[in-house]
Amino acid sequence: MTDTALPTIQHWINGAFSTATPARTSPVFNPALGTATSNVALADDAEINAAIAAAKAAFPGWSNTSIAKRQNIIFKFRELLNERKFELARIITSEHGKVVSDAAGEIQRGLEVVELATGFPHIMKGDFTENASTGVDVFSIKQALGVVGIISPFNFPAMVPMWFFPIAIAVGNTVVLKPSEKDPSAAVWLAELWKEAGLPDGVFNVLHGDKQAVDGLLNHDDVAAISFVGSTPIAQYIYETASKNGKRVQALGGAKNHMLVLPDADLDLVADQAINAGYGSAGERCMAISVVLAIEPVADKLIEKVTERIAKLRIGDGTPTDTHKEPDMGPIVSEVHRDKIASYIQIAKDDGADVLVDGRTIQAEGADGGFWLGPTLIDNLPTTSRAYTEEIFGPVLGIVRVKSFEEGVELINTGQFGNGTAIFTNDGGAARRFQNEIQVGMIGINVPIPVPVAYYSFGGWKDSAFGDSKAYGLQGFHFYTREKAVTSRWLDPAKHGGINLGFPEN
Ligand code: NAD
Repeated sequence: MTDTALPTIQHWINGAFSTATPARTSPVFNPALGTATSNVALADDAEINAAIAAAKAAFPGWSNTSIAKRQNIIFKFRELLNERKFELARIITSEHGKVVSDAAGEIQRGLEVVELATGFPHIMKGDFTENASTGVDVFSIKQALGVVGIISPFNFPAMVPMWFFPIAIAVGNTVVLKPSEKDPSAAVWLAELWKEAGLPDGVFNVLHGDKQAVDGLLNHDDVAAISFVGSTPIAQYIYETASKNGKRVQALGGAKNHMLVLPDADLDLVADQAINAGYGSAGERCMAISVVLAIEPVADKLIEKVTERIAKLRIGDGTPTDTHKEPDMGPIVSEVHRDKIASYIQIAKDDGADVLVDGRTIQAEGADGGFWLGPTLIDNLPTTSRAYTEEIFGPVLGIVRVKSFEEGVELINTGQFGNGTAIFTNDGGAARRFQNEIQVGMIGINVPIPVPVAYYSFGGWKDSAFGDSKAYGLQGFHFYTREKAVTSRWLDPAKHGGINLGFPEN
């Protein structure tokens, strides 16, 4: 039920917040309190059409704005965001739950893509060939696509949109962003920042909503391309629907990332990194480690070290105050998701696993109603259990004991997902073999969360990504542009080629 006393988070269309009372809304919670703090508008057809129309109307002007002017606006956006990132970080924490320093970290990763985007003039240069035939020159021009739709998940409300929109906008597209309805405020905060940086109205629009808004983008003739990040079933639906409608589409999906630990690895390093990558952001990261494949005989010793570290973690409200120091881990984003994660712990137990640390019994430093679930450690997780095969997306680390490198690689390669993976070893030969044989898009060698820097590209394999373009890096620029090849002949006034119905030979 909607609490009408709460503020409404409105769409941002054509450089301003919508003023009409939305027909439908959805509550937005502070997960550390467990209470709704606002309602977000859910777009109907008229609002969907208005956002797309604003982006369409802005496209001719923006795509023909000089490169120097576009670059200045992006530099200004970068400066403003850098100055105010902690304001945004606190907003993220209040709706997502992750601790403020982690929210600032996600903004930093987004900023790196903004910085990459400032260099777009170099990447947008075309090729030129003089005298391809006598008096004929050939060259290429890269142009923006038009209106692009970006649909993002709850877990990175600033970073994931920033994987896409800085590049899309830099090269001349206009954008309709549909953020997650669970934590929509970061998107409109970024929209206001763009306006302050001087971006013309209509170039960046935020359309809040659910399936109706998403379907509106997927089915609208004026949307040229879709960038999606979210769970695998929705990613597949987005990919199929947008492709059927003739749109360019990239759709990144879910994950189940494994860390393979060789017997020669430094187990203190492994234990630290397993904690960071398993429980950071309460495991709600698509690059979180959810399974440790321990090649025997290391499992017992590693479990001892991980358990010791879990005992020291503080779980609580992610917003620090004068009397409350920032904890290590915040709450889960919603009650429904918390309960779903808890159900997977039970599934593992029922399937015969040993739940060594059970996060369902956590005492958190926060409100009783908060969506709490503590770090969970499960040993002897059967690889037939749904707690192993499915994405849990929570602070649950499973240990699977394997006998050999080959057995570990086989488990990773036969899984449904292929987003990220890591190997921990001091054996360079083993690491090199791993990077060659593993069927995964992003690989860490003694690095647990191998998110590529902005000038490489982000994306998984198998059911972790649909479409052939990754996010950001050169592939991002490629995704948001298309090329024209121009063949031109300017006659020497002294000569004339005459009539020739065949292909020219020279
Ligand atoms: P989600 O799939 O539920 O939602 C993602 C987006 O799709 C949201 O904007 C949501 O409103 C929309 N949506 C939800 N249901 C829809 C439907 N039936 N039809 C059309 N649109 C719909 O994902 P989430 O819970 O917000 O995010 C967590 C998921 O995202 C996890 O699976 C995680 O692994 C994945 N993720 C992947 C990456 C990656 O890079 N591969 C990065 C971050 C998150």
